[in-house]
Amino acid sequence: MSSRDIELSKNLSIVQNMISGVKSTHKAKDITLVAVSKTKPLEDIQYLQKYHNIFGENYAQEFAEKFEKIEKKPEFHFIGALQSNKASLVVGKAELIHSVDRLSLAKEIDKSAKKLDIVQKILIQLNLTGETTKSGITENEIEMFLDSLRDLKNISVVGLMTMPFFTDDGELVRPYFRRLREIRDDLKQKGFSLNHLSMGMSGDFIVAIEEGATIVRVGSLIFGER
Ligand SMILES: *Cc1c(COP(=O)(O)O)cnc(C)c1O
Repeated sequence: MSSRDIELSKNLSIVQNMISGVKSTHKAKDITLVAVSKTKPLEDIQYLQKYHNIFGENYAQEFAEKFEKIEKKPEFHFIGALQSNKASLVVGKAELIHSVDRLSLAKEIDKSAKKLDIVQKILIQLNLTGETTKSGITENEIEMFLDSLRDLKNISVVGLMTMPFFTDDGELVRPYFRRLREIRDDLKQKGFSLNHLSMGMSGDFIVAIEEGATIVRVGSLIFGER
């Protein structure tokens, strides 16, 4: 084993143990850990593949290249902002696209998925902080947005995602995580089948799990600073 191999597997088990230790309504085994490998070399993914099989990437081009090169394909999630004209690089390769935040993008994903004759699973990204510079559908728009996706037969919306801001103090973002869960529960009552909540990063995933996250996206705690 190389020293990098040892470092990565050690970091991974620290994160896994932290997840197991959280008191929440979910069992640790029902929480999906996405190891965010953006900007990190392919070798890091290959080392970690011995212990973990779910990785997250942010940049369409980088993701497509890594996907082509890696021999044993892990499960990849696409978590970054996606330009509509890059959708075809991601569709069919990513198990789940976390970051759908506008109709034009949803339509492109649907179109690419149709060509491949698949149904692409997606999450809708919400902007709950109210910062207009941030991507994401607002709370007031979400129901109409979901309605507008009904005709797109080659996508399946399986949940919601949010990313308030980078912080090491989970308490600062707890209200946003809690709100996302409330919105999801409300939409479920209205008949939308949204099971997943993708929320929580290295600095705040514990709080996210306490608030009901089913998917956490952890990068720097596993792979080191970018
Ligand atoms: C980079 C990134 C992460 C991981 O962030 P860390 O703080 O390194 O854990 C999670 N989610 C999204 C959307 C990201 O862009």
